[in-house]
Amino acid sequence: MEHKYLFGVVQTNLKDLCEGYNEHNGQYIIPCPNCIEHAEELDIKNPEDKRKLYIKSDYSVGFCQRCKTKFFNPKPKHDDFALLDDEIKIPEFNYEVFSGNHELIKIPIDYYTMSKDYLEDEVDYLINRNPALEKLYPYLKFKFRKNKVVMPFFWNDEIIYYQTRMTLPRDKCIVPYFCPPINGKPIWINPLNRGSNEVIITEGIFGSIGAFLTYKGKIDTIAVQGSYLTNYQLWMLDQLGYSKYYIYYDEDIISENIIKIMKKYNPIIYSDLEIIHSELGDPEDDYLHKTIYH
Ligand SMILES: [Zn+2]
Repeated sequence: MEHKYLFGVVQTNLKDLCEGYNEHNGQYIIPCPNCIEHAEELDIKNPEDKRKLYIKSDYSVGFCQRCKTKFFNPKPKHDDFALLDDEIKIPEFNYEVFSGNHELIKIPIDYYTMSKDYLEDEVDYLINRNPALEKLYPYLKFKFRKNKVVMPFFWNDEIIYYQTRMTLPRDKCIVPYFCPPINGKPIWINPLNRGSNEVIITEGIFGSIGAFLTYKGKIDTIAVQGSYLTNYQLWMLDQLGYSKYYIYYDEDIISENIIKIMKKYNPIIYSDLEIIHSELGDPEDDYLHKTIYH
């Protein structure tokens, strides 16, 4: 029988859900609250009798085999954005691999590690580009080489990749970005993210920072390094447990295409997608225009 899917992701305290049940082989198997609540719509008889919700014994994640809902613990809530006097930590992503069969792909990061924490001209480039970066670049863990900013990609607190941005004037650098070759292009998860349930998807890293600032840190941001999402990137995104996705590109036609790709990959998880229309260009341009030139 085919079941309807009502929710992609539910956030609730998983330890509480498991109370009164015994753990077996590293998991709890319990009746699914989503199936119970929506038994009629899902056409399920006696949903309490059949245990279909599998929760890992460390309470990190759950998955209902029947309604295909994913269960996560609520993310920590942060106070309103107070970036300049607030300690910012890189978030921990504890979600276990639960769907797909990809393995994390990493590259050696010696080039990043051996780059400098500060170079005057290169930091000036950042400040000229977006004055907010003067305060933010240490939190973003950006490093520097002559004529280059080296920008790391994190996964579970670990640096798995980096990208460089040339700092020379436009006419002096033919290829502004360099992406080291890798078998799976990762997503860039903004290290400033504060654990929102919602996320904005942007094309590039600087656009992602612009969107984060525009929304005052209340929505997480992720850059996908282009106008396309690979299955590997969707697999990564899938594990972060967001309940809503905003797509913010300089052109709506690209955002629409991204939405098509996401829905095709997983119509359950990616059921709540919305386009943010850009006003002037990419999210960085929008941010600069709104805050600095006004
Ligand atoms: Zn269920």
